[in-house]
Amino acid sequence: MTTTPLKLFNSLTRQLEEFQPVHPGEARVYTCGPTVYNYPHIGNMRAYVFADVLGRTLSFKGYKLTHVINITDVGHLTDDADAGEDKMEKMAAERAQSIWDIAQHYTEAYWADVKALGIRQPAKWTIATEYVPAMIDFAKSIADKHCYELDSGLYFDVTTVADYGRLARAVTEEGEGRIDEVEGKRNAADFAIWRKTPPGEKRQMEWDSPWGRGAPGWHLECSVMSGQVLGFPFDIHTGGIDHREIHHPNEIAQNQAFCCTNGLDVPANSGANIWMHNNFLVERSGKMSKSAGEFLRLQLLIDKGYHPLAYRLMCLQAHYRSELEFSWEGLQAALVRLKRMVMAWERLAQTPPKTAGSPTAMEQILSNHETAFAGTISEDLNTAVALTVFEELLADKKISSDFRLDLLRKFDAVLGFEFDNLSRTDLRIRPKAATITEAEIEAVLTQRKEARAAKDFATSDRLRDELAAQGVEVMDGDPLGWDWKLGE
Ligand code: AMP
Ligand code: ZN
Repeated sequence: MTTTPLKLFNSLTRQLEEFQPVHPGEARVYTCGPTVYNYPHIGNMRAYVFADVLGRTLSFKGYKLTHVINITDVGHLTDDADAGEDKMEKMAAERAQSIWDIAQHYTEAYWADVKALGIRQPAKWTIATEYVPAMIDFAKSIADKHCYELDSGLYFDVTTVADYGRLARAVTEEGEGRIDEVEGKRNAADFAIWRKTPPGEKRQMEWDSPWGRGAPGWHLECSVMSGQVLGFPFDIHTGGIDHREIHHPNEIAQNQAFCCTNGLDVPANSGANIWMHNNFLVERSGKMSKSAGEFLRLQLLIDKGYHPLAYRLMCLQAHYRSELEFSWEGLQAALVRLKRMVMAWERLAQTPPKTAGSPTAMEQILSNHETAFAGTISEDLNTAVALTVFEELLADKKISSDFRLDLLRKFDAVLGFEFDNLSRTDLRIRPKAATITEAEIEAVLTQRKEARAAKDFATSDRLRDELAAQGVEVMDGDPLGWDWKLGE
């Protein structure tokens, strides 16, 4: 197989770049994780499916991967201009619950989605509240040269670092960029490193610091956790495209300040060599918004009978840098495609290996498939085409089943479906609204079989229609014989 270099789109340069690891043979990746004040929506989960495919691709290319994802359980405000409330405090107040309980509940819900979507466990989950002393130390080391204090907290002066905002390509002087919401800020884009608790108030989560009792700023968290666990500079930092505008430029500014102050020799001092961003999952009717009541979370898809891996497939069918429009029809199409793959895999696993034929010819064909797959996934993670290469190999009868399965498993390790542990039965999920049980369906189907054997087609048709009225589709071509009808 010819080895293709891995090319990734670096948001810093807005170009494809060949991946050159900082530490030979290793890849160190940091992914901005969720703020655990609510369930993640499926758009949020697209960011982690993307980061997972990136990690899997780095492993496939032979790099020893260290992946870190954080859990933000403090500090993320409802407003980007430092004027809003802490999302965690706000939810805790609304629910009259402790923040710690809220954080635990939604962290576990997020981890359940991670598992259901086949996202691999990172080497480490960093929990923001466990790093507060490290955040205070980081802030202390840059405070003199780069920060100033106001009544409301410690602020970072963005003019103290070179090229602030270059990731966003933002003009931060007059007019463009962010609006200054906090009184006394020197520059519109300055941001809070430490937020003091206002006099007379008490936050559920607060710590003592040289700038008074309070809580860290959200951007500070990611700089500290990524730098501490992976060391500056590390290889790749990921997040959704919205982070390219404010969160990541602010992280980069802090990293620059920290690296210069602490004498670290970091090229361009941005902390990570490559910054990668997934585009958004969009939904026209506004169901993605967490304030919309029944919003699009993974459990909603499952409740309607869609297997979570159908959503993973939907994500992989699009390039991570393209916007992806969610629709129930699109999700259904992905589920049908997944079913076909699973059925083909099941058949292949039962096919005895060929004993005749030339092994050299077969090896050549296998090598072509492998080169095609490696080439496409190495081109900035082109999962859409990689999926078709996978399907071509799945269907290539020229190759003995055992060889085919060996290589398909390698591809599956990148795509992340775990076909060896996935059966056609697993994909048939009972919708929450179903009124009939599986046993009742099987009983009707037995009656229908008897009617057909007796050539009583009128009864057979009536039974099929009765099942259809209860949301069950009789499928004579499918090995399972029937499936749930899915809709919105
Ligand atoms: P948050 O919990 O709000 O910090 O978001 C978690 C991750 O989801 C971040 O990387 C966001 O950039 C990303 N994200 C938010 N909305 C979407 C969306 N609609 N599609 C894709 N990614 C998103
Ligand atoms: Zn972050």
